[in-house]
Amino acid sequence: MHNDKRFATRCIHAGQSPDPTTGAITTPIYLTSTYVQRSPGEFKDGYDYSRSKNPTRQALEDNLAALEGGVRGLSFSSGLGSIDCVLHLLSSGDHVVLCDDVYGGTFRLFKRVFEQLGITFSRVDMTDHDATRAAFTDKTKLVWLETPTNPTLKIIDIAAMAEMAHAKGALLCVDNTFATPALQNPLALGADIVSHSTTKYLGGHADVVGGALIVKDEELGDKLWFNQNSVGAVPSPMDCFLTLRSTKTLHVRMQRHCENAAKVADHLANHKAIEKVVYPGHTTHPQHEVAKKQMSDFGGMITVYLAGGLDAAKRMLERVQIFSLAESLGGVESLIEHPAIMTHGSVPPEERAKIGLTDALVRLSVGIEDVADQIADLDAALA
Ligand SMILES: *Cc1c(COP(=O)(O)O)cnc(C)c1O
Repeated sequence: MHNDKRFATRCIHAGQSPDPTTGAITTPIYLTSTYVQRSPGEFKDGYDYSRSKNPTRQALEDNLAALEGGVRGLSFSSGLGSIDCVLHLLSSGDHVVLCDDVYGGTFRLFKRVFEQLGITFSRVDMTDHDATRAAFTDKTKLVWLETPTNPTLKIIDIAAMAEMAHAKGALLCVDNTFATPALQNPLALGADIVSHSTTKYLGGHADVVGGALIVKDEELGDKLWFNQNSVGAVPSPMDCFLTLRSTKTLHVRMQRHCENAAKVADHLANHKAIEKVVYPGHTTHPQHEVAKKQMSDFGGMITVYLAGGLDAAKRMLERVQIFSLAESLGGVESLIEHPAIMTHGSVPPEERAKIGLTDALVRLSVGIEDVADQIADLDAALA
């Protein structure tokens, strides 16, 4: 429903129609594991068992599909559950081209779980197109990237990567967690699969862990659904309800995240305790032009390098009050963290060094509090 409408309207209405029993405007939380059948094997609209299908989850999946401009959405019990589902498309001997700066848990899944099953991967800096082209082998079946990357906020040209992947007969999957469909639509840029940790901006209120996949091809959607139903990493109806409630405000939240982050980034760029600010909205960002081309705004994430290294970083992180020292990102409340010790601790030190993930690096997820309070908090912590 309303899939042809503009983004803000889709956020609020897509996938949802008044409940057929009562007319309830809000999609009910269907806490049911099973559905009564009229006759053996005769049931309504595919509803036979809630691992396979649940009405609250269906509403969320249809909503997410509409937000990303896809034909099919699948939601999961975590972002890693959704990534796992994609990797189960592969067979032993297959090869993946992976961007060098991915979420730590994604790297761990490739390295520690799928590598032992015979799936190989090459990590490459995808801002370097020649290096990326050279990373393909005749076994490459999948290209996996995040943009903006986590935590160094590199911007990877999605359309260029789609062209490269398709020329080699591989699928392109883009983890769109940082940008969200409010700012960037990978399917429209040529990607085959969009992956999300809905724990972050889509959920937006730090109260639910979840994941999602969206595709524009029905057949690929069926294959992924088969994997999901076979493996079983499905979200609860309650989690689906919370996420669906959150996507209704995605467009306004993202607008404020972007406005605040731009101001905080400008402020920190002129702060003497900060050696360097990485923000895709700054013209000094090496891929600023790519960001302008494929994103409608620059997001709520900022990475900074502290002039005083690890000691200064620790001091700052212990002193913030509005920013909370915590893993995760994308909620209404501002978070701050130290990737080398926290979110990316599972990435080996030598791998971290290669991508500039040093001990001086601090990642900020700028929330939607008043920006003057956010800036005052950072100034006090850096004083
Ligand atoms: C958090 C995150 C994930 C993993 O999602 P979970 O919901 O924690 O399982 C994957 N990709 C990115 C970019 C993330 O930030």
